[in-house]
Amino acid sequence: MSQTLQAAPATRAPSDPGENRRLVVISVDAMSVVDVPFARTLPNLSRVLAGGWGSAEAIYPTVTYPNHTSQTTARTAAGHGIYANEIVQPGVRRPDWFWDARAITSPTLFDLAAAKGLTTASVGWPVTGWSPSIDIAVPEIWDPAGLDQTRAVLRDAASERGRAYVDRHAGEIGWDTKHRFGRFNTAVAVDMIGSDRPDVLFVHLVDVDSARHTTGRFTPEVREAFERVDGWIGEILDALGAAGLAEDTNVAVVSDHGHVEVGRCFRANHLLVQEGLIRLDEQGEVASWDAWVHGCGLTGQLHLHPEAGQSTRERVLALVETWVEDPEIPVAALLGREVMREEYGYDGPFVGVLEGTSGTNFQNLWEGRSLYGRFDPDYTFLLSQHGHLPEQDIQAVFAMVGPDIADGVRFARCTVPDEAATFAHLLGLEFPEADGEPVTRVRA
Ligand SMILES: [Zn+2]
Repeated sequence: MSQTLQAAPATRAPSDPGENRRLVVISVDAMSVVDVPFARTLPNLSRVLAGGWGSAEAIYPTVTYPNHTSQTTARTAAGHGIYANEIVQPGVRRPDWFWDARAITSPTLFDLAAAKGLTTASVGWPVTGWSPSIDIAVPEIWDPAGLDQTRAVLRDAASERGRAYVDRHAGEIGWDTKHRFGRFNTAVAVDMIGSDRPDVLFVHLVDVDSARHTTGRFTPEVREAFERVDGWIGEILDALGAAGLAEDTNVAVVSDHGHVEVGRCFRANHLLVQEGLIRLDEQGEVASWDAWVHGCGLTGQLHLHPEAGQSTRERVLALVETWVEDPEIPVAALLGREVMREEYGYDGPFVGVLEGTSGTNFQNLWEGRSLYGRFDPDYTFLLSQHGHLPEQDIQAVFAMVGPDIADGVRFARCTVPDEAATFAHLLGLEFPEADGEPVTRVRA
Protein backbone atom coordinates (compact mmCIF):
# COMPACT_ATOMS: atom_id res chain seq x y z
CA MET A 1 0.00 0.00 0.00
CA SER A 2 1.12 3.56 -0.58
CA GLN A 3 2.77 5.29 2.33
CA THR A 4 0.90 8.53 1.96
CA LEU A 5 2.44 11.68 3.35
CA GLN A 6 -0.17 13.87 1.75
CA ALA A 7 -3.01 11.94 0.24
CA ALA A 8 -3.33 13.98 -2.92
CA PRO A 9 -3.67 11.86 -6.05
CA ALA A 10 -0.61 12.24 -8.25
CA THR A 11 -2.52 11.61 -11.42
CA ARG A 12 -5.77 12.93 -12.86
CA ALA A 13 -8.52 10.52 -13.85
CA PRO A 14 -10.40 11.23 -17.08
CA SER A 15 -13.03 13.89 -16.32
CA ASP A 16 -14.99 13.41 -19.50
CA PRO A 17 -16.06 9.80 -20.21
CA GLY A 18 -15.48 10.45 -23.89
CA GLU A 19 -11.94 11.67 -23.30
CA ASN A 20 -9.51 9.40 -25.09
CA ARG A 21 -6.40 9.08 -22.99
CA ARG A 22 -3.56 6.88 -24.13
CA LEU A 23 -0.92 5.10 -22.09
CA VAL A 24 2.62 3.99 -22.92
CA VAL A 25 4.55 2.06 -20.26
CA ILE A 26 8.26 1.44 -20.81
CA SER A 27 10.03 -0.93 -18.43
CA VAL A 28 13.74 -0.27 -17.98
CA ASP A 29 14.47 -3.59 -16.33
CA ALA A 30 16.59 -3.26 -13.16
CA MET A 31 16.66 0.55 -13.14
CA SER A 32 16.64 1.74 -9.53
CA VAL A 33 16.19 5.05 -7.75
CA VAL A 34 19.96 5.43 -7.33
CA ASP A 35 20.19 5.58 -11.13
CA VAL A 36 17.97 8.67 -11.28
CA PRO A 37 20.72 11.33 -10.99
CA PHE A 38 22.58 9.77 -13.93
CA ALA A 39 19.35 9.21 -15.89
CA ARG A 40 18.61 12.93 -15.51
CA THR A 41 21.74 13.69 -17.54
CA LEU A 42 20.45 11.61 -20.46
CA PRO A 43 18.37 13.35 -23.13
CA ASN A 44 15.27 11.13 -23.04
CA LEU A 45 14.95 9.57 -19.59
CA SER A 46 15.20 13.17 -18.37
CA ARG A 47 12.05 13.98 -20.41
CA VAL A 48 10.07 11.42 -18.41
CA LEU A 49 11.72 12.28 -15.06
CA ALA A 50 10.65 15.91 -15.58
CA GLY A 51 7.11 14.78 -14.71
CA GLY A 52 6.55 12.81 -11.51
CA TRP A 53 8.79 10.14 -10.07
CA GLY A 54 9.35 8.10 -6.95
CA SER A 55 10.47 4.72 -5.67
CA ALA A 56 8.43 1.55 -6.05
CA GLU A 57 8.87 -1.46 -3.80
CA ALA A 58 8.89 -4.69 -5.78
CA ILE A 59 6.83 -7.72 -4.89
CA TYR A 60 8.51 -10.85 -3.55
CA PRO A 61 10.33 -12.51 -5.14
CA THR A 62 12.10 -9.48 -6.62
CA VAL A 63 12.46 -11.05 -10.05
CA THR A 64 11.27 -9.96 -13.47
CA TYR A 65 8.21 -12.00 -14.45
CA PRO A 66 6.25 -11.77 -11.16
CA ASN A 67 6.84 -8.01 -10.99
CA HIS A 68 5.96 -7.30 -14.60
CA THR A 69 2.74 -9.24 -14.05
CA SER A 70 1.98 -7.06 -11.02
CA GLN A 71 2.42 -4.04 -13.30
CA THR A 72 -0.44 -5.30 -15.46
CA THR A 73 -2.71 -6.80 -12.75
CA ALA A 74 -2.26 -4.73 -9.53
CA ARG A 75 -1.88 -8.05 -7.69
CA THR A 76 0.98 -9.71 -5.82
CA ALA A 77 2.08 -13.22 -6.85
CA ALA A 78 -0.54 -14.92 -4.65
CA GLY A 79 -3.19 -13.08 -6.70
CA HIS A 80 -1.77 -13.30 -10.22
CA GLY A 81 -0.17 -16.74 -10.05
CA ILE A 82 3.25 -15.92 -11.56
CA TYR A 83 5.41 -17.01 -8.63
CA ALA A 84 8.82 -17.18 -10.41
CA ASN A 85 10.51 -16.44 -13.72
CA GLU A 86 10.89 -20.08 -14.57
CA ILE A 87 8.40 -22.93 -14.45
CA VAL A 88 9.36 -25.69 -11.99
CA GLN A 89 10.81 -28.50 -14.13
CA PRO A 90 13.08 -30.62 -11.86
CA GLY A 91 16.03 -32.09 -13.75
CA VAL A 92 15.71 -29.68 -16.69
CA ARG A 93 18.85 -27.55 -17.05
CA ARG A 94 17.18 -24.63 -18.81
CA PRO A 95 13.52 -24.65 -17.76
CA ASP A 96 10.87 -22.79 -19.74
CA TRP A 97 9.96 -19.38 -18.39
CA PHE A 98 6.42 -18.23 -17.63
CA TRP A 99 6.03 -17.04 -21.21
CA ASP A 100 2.35 -17.98 -21.53
CA ALA A 101 -0.19 -15.29 -20.57
CA ARG A 102 -2.79 -17.97 -19.89
CA ALA A 103 -0.92 -18.79 -16.65
CA ILE A 104 -2.04 -15.44 -15.15
CA THR A 105 -4.92 -16.08 -12.72
CA SER A 106 -6.33 -12.54 -12.38
CA PRO A 107 -7.62 -9.95 -14.87
CA THR A 108 -4.98 -7.82 -16.57
CA LEU A 109 -5.13 -4.18 -17.60
CA PHE A 110 -5.27 -5.51 -21.16
CA ASP A 111 -8.49 -7.39 -20.32
CA LEU A 112 -10.06 -4.28 -18.76
CA ALA A 113 -8.98 -2.05 -21.65
CA ALA A 114 -10.27 -4.50 -24.26
CA ALA A 115 -13.64 -4.65 -22.50
CA LYS A 116 -13.84 -0.87 -22.86
CA GLY A 117 -13.02 -1.04 -26.55
CA LEU A 118 -9.45 0.23 -26.27
CA THR A 119 -6.77 -1.17 -28.56
CA THR A 120 -3.98 -2.81 -26.58
CA ALA A 121 -0.42 -3.69 -27.57
CA SER A 122 2.68 -5.12 -25.92
CA VAL A 123 6.28 -5.56 -27.02
CA GLY A 124 8.69 -7.82 -25.16
CA TRP A 125 6.48 -7.67 -22.07
CA PRO A 126 6.87 -10.75 -19.86
CA VAL A 127 4.04 -13.30 -19.68
CA THR A 128 2.20 -12.08 -22.79
CA GLY A 129 2.69 -15.10 -25.09
CA TRP A 130 -0.51 -16.52 -26.62
CA SER A 131 -2.41 -13.73 -24.84
CA PRO A 132 -6.17 -14.10 -25.14
CA SER A 133 -6.79 -10.34 -24.73
CA ILE A 134 -3.92 -8.26 -26.20
CA ASP A 135 -4.80 -7.09 -29.71
CA ILE A 136 -1.23 -6.66 -30.91
CA ALA A 137 1.18 -8.76 -28.85
CA VAL A 138 4.84 -9.35 -29.66
CA PRO A 139 5.81 -11.16 -26.45
CA GLU A 140 9.11 -11.91 -24.79
CA ILE A 141 10.03 -15.51 -25.55
CA TRP A 142 13.14 -17.25 -26.85
CA ASP A 143 14.61 -20.63 -27.64
CA PRO A 144 18.11 -21.08 -26.21
CA ALA A 145 18.88 -23.27 -29.26
CA GLY A 146 19.42 -20.23 -31.46
CA LEU A 147 18.22 -17.22 -33.42
CA ASP A 148 16.19 -19.07 -36.05
CA GLN A 149 14.39 -21.10 -33.40
CA THR A 150 13.78 -17.92 -31.40
CA ARG A 151 12.22 -16.17 -34.40
CA ALA A 152 9.95 -19.18 -34.93
CA VAL A 153 8.70 -19.42 -31.34
CA LEU A 154 8.27 -15.63 -31.15
CA ARG A 155 6.09 -15.73 -34.25
CA ASP A 156 4.05 -18.57 -32.79
CA ALA A 157 3.48 -16.84 -29.43
CA ALA A 158 2.62 -13.46 -30.99
CA SER A 159 -0.99 -12.45 -31.58
CA GLU A 160 -2.21 -12.51 -35.17
CA ARG A 161 -1.76 -8.76 -35.57
CA GLY A 162 1.59 -8.97 -33.74
CA ARG A 163 2.93 -11.51 -36.24
CA ALA A 164 3.13 -8.89 -39.00
CA TYR A 165 5.51 -6.87 -36.81
CA VAL A 166 7.64 -9.94 -36.06
CA ASP A 167 7.91 -10.59 -39.79
CA ARG A 168 8.82 -6.98 -40.58
CA HIS A 169 11.49 -6.64 -37.88
CA ALA A 170 12.84 -10.17 -37.19
CA GLY A 171 16.15 -9.13 -38.78
CA GLU A 172 16.66 -6.70 -35.88
CA ILE A 173 16.74 -9.39 -33.19
CA GLY A 174 20.31 -9.62 -31.96
CA TRP A 175 22.15 -12.74 -30.87
CA ASP A 176 25.56 -13.14 -29.26
CA THR A 177 25.55 -15.81 -26.57
CA LYS A 178 21.79 -15.32 -26.26
CA HIS A 179 18.88 -13.27 -27.60
CA ARG A 180 19.12 -9.44 -27.66
CA PHE A 181 15.71 -7.89 -28.09
CA GLY A 182 16.31 -4.17 -27.35
CA ARG A 183 16.77 -2.91 -30.91
CA PHE A 184 13.96 -5.18 -32.17
CA ASN A 185 11.50 -4.21 -29.41
CA THR A 186 12.11 -0.52 -30.08
CA ALA A 187 11.64 -0.89 -33.83
CA VAL A 188 8.40 -2.82 -33.29
CA ALA A 189 7.06 -0.28 -30.76
CA VAL A 190 7.84 2.65 -33.08
CA ASP A 191 6.20 0.86 -36.01
CA MET A 192 3.11 0.02 -33.90
CA ILE A 193 2.69 3.64 -32.79
CA GLY A 194 2.80 4.84 -36.40
CA SER A 195 0.74 2.02 -37.94
CA ASP A 196 -1.85 0.84 -35.41
CA ARG A 197 -1.85 3.75 -32.93
CA PRO A 198 -2.75 1.52 -29.93
CA ASP A 199 -4.46 3.17 -26.94
CA VAL A 200 -2.37 1.13 -24.50
CA LEU A 201 1.21 0.02 -25.19
CA PHE A 202 3.63 -1.80 -22.85
CA VAL A 203 7.31 -2.15 -23.86
CA HIS A 204 10.11 -4.00 -22.02
CA LEU A 205 13.81 -3.07 -22.43
CA VAL A 206 16.29 -5.40 -20.71
CA ASP A 207 19.78 -4.14 -21.56
CA VAL A 208 20.53 -2.51 -18.18
CA ASP A 209 19.57 -5.69 -16.33
CA SER A 210 21.66 -7.87 -18.65
CA ALA A 211 24.71 -5.62 -18.24
CA ARG A 212 24.34 -5.66 -14.46
CA HIS A 213 24.12 -9.45 -14.29
CA THR A 214 27.25 -10.03 -16.33
CA THR A 215 29.49 -7.09 -15.35
CA GLY A 216 28.27 -5.81 -11.96
CA ARG A 217 25.94 -3.13 -10.68
CA PHE A 218 27.76 0.08 -11.65
CA THR A 219 30.19 -0.60 -14.48
CA PRO A 220 31.03 1.14 -17.77
CA GLU A 221 28.92 -1.52 -19.51
CA VAL A 222 25.88 -0.56 -17.38
CA ARG A 223 26.43 3.08 -18.25
CA GLU A 224 26.56 2.20 -21.95
CA ALA A 225 23.38 0.13 -21.58
CA PHE A 226 21.61 3.15 -20.03
CA GLU A 227 22.74 5.32 -22.93
CA ARG A 228 21.51 2.74 -25.44
CA VAL A 229 18.15 2.36 -23.67
CA ASP A 230 17.82 6.14 -23.44
CA GLY A 231 18.20 6.36 -27.22
CA TRP A 232 15.46 3.77 -27.67
CA ILE A 233 13.14 5.63 -25.29
CA GLY A 234 13.81 8.73 -27.39
CA GLU A 235 12.72 6.87 -30.53
CA ILE A 236 9.46 5.83 -28.84
CA LEU A 237 8.73 9.36 -27.54
CA ASP A 238 9.53 10.84 -30.94
CA ALA A 239 7.22 8.31 -32.63
CA LEU A 240 4.36 9.51 -30.37
CA GLY A 241 5.12 13.07 -31.44
CA ALA A 242 5.30 12.18 -35.14
CA ALA A 243 1.95 10.35 -34.91
CA GLY A 244 0.35 13.38 -33.23
CA LEU A 245 -0.34 11.36 -30.07
CA ALA A 246 2.05 12.99 -27.56
CA GLU A 247 -0.52 15.40 -26.13
CA ASP A 248 -2.99 12.61 -25.31
CA THR A 249 -0.48 10.08 -23.99
CA ASN A 250 0.66 9.53 -20.42
CA VAL A 251 4.10 7.88 -20.52
CA ALA A 252 5.54 5.81 -17.67
CA VAL A 253 9.02 4.48 -17.07
CA VAL A 254 8.88 1.59 -14.61
CA SER A 255 11.27 -0.99 -13.30
CA ASP A 256 10.98 -4.29 -11.49
CA HIS A 257 13.80 -4.64 -8.93
CA GLY A 258 17.26 -3.47 -7.91
CA HIS A 259 20.39 -5.61 -7.89
CA VAL A 260 22.64 -7.06 -5.16
CA GLU A 261 26.28 -8.04 -5.68
CA VAL A 262 26.67 -11.83 -5.83
CA GLY A 263 29.29 -13.38 -3.56
CA ARG A 264 28.58 -17.04 -4.19
CA CYS A 265 26.46 -19.49 -6.16
CA PHE A 266 24.68 -22.17 -4.16
CA ARG A 267 23.45 -25.49 -5.56
CA ALA A 268 21.08 -26.73 -2.88
CA ASN A 269 20.08 -29.60 -5.15
CA HIS A 270 23.66 -30.93 -4.92
CA LEU A 271 23.09 -31.35 -1.18
CA LEU A 272 19.73 -33.05 -1.87
CA VAL A 273 21.52 -35.53 -4.19
CA GLN A 274 24.00 -36.31 -1.39
CA GLU A 275 21.08 -36.99 0.95
CA GLY A 276 19.43 -39.33 -1.57
CA LEU A 277 16.43 -37.00 -1.92
CA ILE A 278 17.30 -36.55 -5.61
CA ARG A 279 18.42 -39.69 -7.48
CA LEU A 280 20.59 -39.54 -10.62
CA ASP A 281 20.88 -41.96 -13.54
CA GLU A 282 24.16 -43.26 -14.98
CA GLN A 283 24.58 -40.11 -17.06
CA GLY A 284 24.23 -37.93 -14.00
CA GLU A 285 20.79 -36.65 -14.99
CA VAL A 286 17.89 -36.49 -12.54
CA ALA A 287 16.02 -39.81 -12.50
CA SER A 288 13.62 -39.14 -9.63
CA TRP A 289 13.21 -36.70 -6.76
CA ASP A 290 11.48 -36.18 -3.43
CA ALA A 291 12.58 -32.59 -2.87
CA TRP A 292 13.81 -29.89 -5.25
CA VAL A 293 15.04 -26.34 -4.73
CA HIS A 294 13.87 -24.07 -7.55
CA GLY A 295 16.27 -21.17 -7.94
CA CYS A 296 14.64 -17.76 -8.01
CA GLY A 297 17.72 -15.54 -7.97
CA LEU A 298 18.67 -14.77 -4.39
CA THR A 299 15.93 -17.04 -3.04
CA GLY A 300 15.10 -20.68 -3.62
CA GLN A 301 11.68 -22.29 -3.43
CA LEU A 302 11.58 -25.62 -1.61
CA HIS A 303 9.36 -28.04 -3.52
CA LEU A 304 8.25 -31.50 -2.42
CA HIS A 305 7.25 -34.14 -4.94
CA PRO A 306 3.42 -34.28 -5.10
CA GLU A 307 3.55 -37.92 -3.96
CA ALA A 308 5.98 -37.33 -1.09
CA GLY A 309 4.55 -38.56 2.23
CA GLN A 310 4.58 -37.00 5.67
CA SER A 311 7.82 -38.72 6.73
CA THR A 312 9.65 -37.36 3.66
CA ARG A 313 8.27 -33.91 4.36
CA GLU A 314 9.50 -34.02 7.94
CA ARG A 315 12.90 -35.30 6.88
CA VAL A 316 13.33 -32.53 4.29
CA LEU A 317 12.24 -29.78 6.67
CA ALA A 318 14.62 -31.10 9.38
CA LEU A 319 17.45 -31.17 6.83
CA VAL A 320 16.81 -27.59 5.76
CA GLU A 321 16.81 -26.48 9.40
CA THR A 322 20.35 -27.86 9.68
CA TRP A 323 21.29 -25.77 6.63
CA VAL A 324 20.06 -22.63 8.36
CA GLU A 325 22.19 -23.50 11.42
CA ASP A 326 25.33 -24.44 9.46
CA PRO A 327 27.63 -21.43 8.88
CA GLU A 328 29.12 -23.12 5.82
CA ILE A 329 25.74 -23.28 4.07
CA PRO A 330 24.52 -19.86 2.87
CA VAL A 331 20.85 -20.19 3.83
CA ALA A 332 19.66 -17.48 6.23
CA ALA A 333 16.10 -18.69 6.77
CA LEU A 334 13.35 -21.04 5.67
CA LEU A 335 10.20 -18.94 5.39
CA GLY A 336 6.92 -20.88 5.45
CA ARG A 337 4.06 -20.33 3.00
CA GLU A 338 1.78 -18.80 5.61
CA VAL A 339 4.36 -16.15 6.52
CA MET A 340 5.01 -15.48 2.84
CA ARG A 341 1.32 -15.05 2.09
CA GLU A 342 0.65 -12.79 5.04
CA GLU A 343 3.77 -10.63 4.90
CA TYR A 344 4.40 -10.47 1.17
CA GLY A 345 1.30 -11.65 -0.69
CA TYR A 346 3.43 -14.48 -2.00
CA ASP A 347 2.23 -18.01 -2.65
CA GLY A 348 2.89 -20.90 -4.99
CA PRO A 349 3.09 -24.69 -5.14
CA PHE A 350 6.04 -24.89 -2.70
CA VAL A 351 6.38 -25.68 1.01
CA GLY A 352 8.53 -22.66 1.78
CA VAL A 353 11.19 -20.27 0.57
CA LEU A 354 14.90 -20.34 1.34
CA GLU A 355 16.26 -16.85 1.72
CA GLY A 356 19.99 -16.87 1.08
CA THR A 357 22.59 -15.02 3.12
CA SER A 358 23.29 -11.70 1.40
CA GLY A 359 24.65 -12.17 -2.11
CA THR A 360 23.85 -15.89 -2.42
CA ASN A 361 22.56 -16.87 -5.85
CA PHE A 362 20.52 -20.10 -5.99
CA GLN A 363 21.12 -22.31 -9.01
CA ASN A 364 18.94 -25.22 -10.08
CA LEU A 365 21.97 -27.33 -11.04
CA TRP A 366 22.97 -30.40 -9.03
CA GLU A 367 26.40 -31.43 -10.33
CA GLY A 368 29.85 -30.20 -9.28
CA ARG A 369 29.86 -28.68 -5.78
CA SER A 370 27.20 -27.10 -3.63
CA LEU A 371 29.06 -23.80 -3.34
CA TYR A 372 31.03 -21.63 -5.78
CA GLY A 373 32.67 -18.53 -4.29
CA ARG A 374 33.65 -15.44 -6.26
CA PHE A 375 37.37 -16.13 -5.70
CA ASP A 376 37.13 -19.76 -6.84
CA PRO A 377 39.02 -20.17 -10.15
CA ASP A 378 35.99 -21.90 -11.71
CA TYR A 379 33.53 -19.14 -10.75
CA THR A 380 32.01 -18.14 -14.10
CA PHE A 381 28.52 -17.11 -12.98
CA LEU A 382 26.58 -13.88 -12.52
CA LEU A 383 28.22 -10.95 -10.72
CA SER A 384 24.97 -9.28 -9.73
CA GLN A 385 21.50 -10.67 -9.03
CA HIS A 386 18.10 -10.06 -7.41
CA GLY A 387 15.22 -12.08 -5.97
CA HIS A 388 15.86 -10.95 -2.38
CA LEU A 389 13.26 -9.67 0.09
CA PRO A 390 11.74 -6.46 -1.31
CA GLU A 391 12.55 -4.19 1.62
CA GLN A 392 16.24 -4.98 1.26
CA ASP A 393 18.59 -2.88 -0.80
CA ILE A 394 17.79 -0.30 -3.46
CA GLN A 395 14.29 0.16 -4.87
CA ALA A 396 12.86 0.27 -8.36
CA VAL A 397 11.91 3.55 -10.00
CA PHE A 398 8.48 4.75 -11.17
CA ALA A 399 8.31 7.87 -13.34
CA MET A 400 5.51 9.40 -15.40
CA VAL A 401 5.00 12.37 -17.67
CA GLY A 402 1.99 13.42 -19.69
CA PRO A 403 -1.24 15.40 -19.78
CA ASP A 404 -2.50 14.06 -16.42
CA ILE A 405 0.72 14.41 -14.43
CA ALA A 406 1.98 17.79 -13.27
CA ASP A 407 5.66 18.52 -13.89
CA GLY A 408 8.10 18.22 -11.02
CA VAL A 409 5.91 16.01 -8.82
CA ARG A 410 7.50 13.66 -6.31
CA PHE A 411 5.44 10.48 -5.95
CA ALA A 412 4.98 9.00 -2.48
CA ARG A 413 6.82 5.72 -2.12
CA CYS A 414 4.62 3.08 -3.73
CA THR A 415 4.63 -0.59 -4.63
CA VAL A 416 4.73 -2.25 -8.02
CA PRO A 417 1.01 -3.24 -7.79
CA ASP A 418 0.27 0.46 -7.11
CA GLU A 419 1.67 1.22 -10.58
CA ALA A 420 -0.99 -0.93 -12.28
CA ALA A 421 -3.70 0.71 -10.15
CA THR A 422 -2.35 4.09 -11.30
CA PHE A 423 -2.52 3.04 -14.95
CA ALA A 424 -6.11 1.87 -14.51
CA HIS A 425 -6.97 5.18 -12.80
CA LEU A 426 -5.52 7.16 -15.71
CA LEU A 427 -7.55 5.16 -18.24
CA GLY A 428 -10.78 5.27 -16.23
CA LEU A 429 -10.64 1.51 -15.59
CA GLU A 430 -11.00 -0.45 -12.37
CA PHE A 431 -9.58 -3.79 -11.28
CA PRO A 432 -12.21 -6.02 -9.61
CA GLU A 433 -9.62 -6.89 -6.95
CA ALA A 434 -6.31 -5.12 -6.31
CA ASP A 435 -3.34 -5.23 -3.93
CA GLY A 436 -2.42 -1.69 -4.92
CA GLU A 437 -3.96 1.76 -5.21
CA PRO A 438 -3.16 4.79 -7.39
CA VAL A 439 0.05 6.55 -6.45
CA THR A 440 -0.20 9.74 -4.43
CA ARG A 441 2.20 12.64 -4.29
CA VAL A 442 4.52 13.86 -1.58
CA ARG A 443 4.59 17.38 -2.93
CA ALA A 444 3.83 19.18 -6.15
ZN1 LIG B 1 14.08 -7.71 -14.22
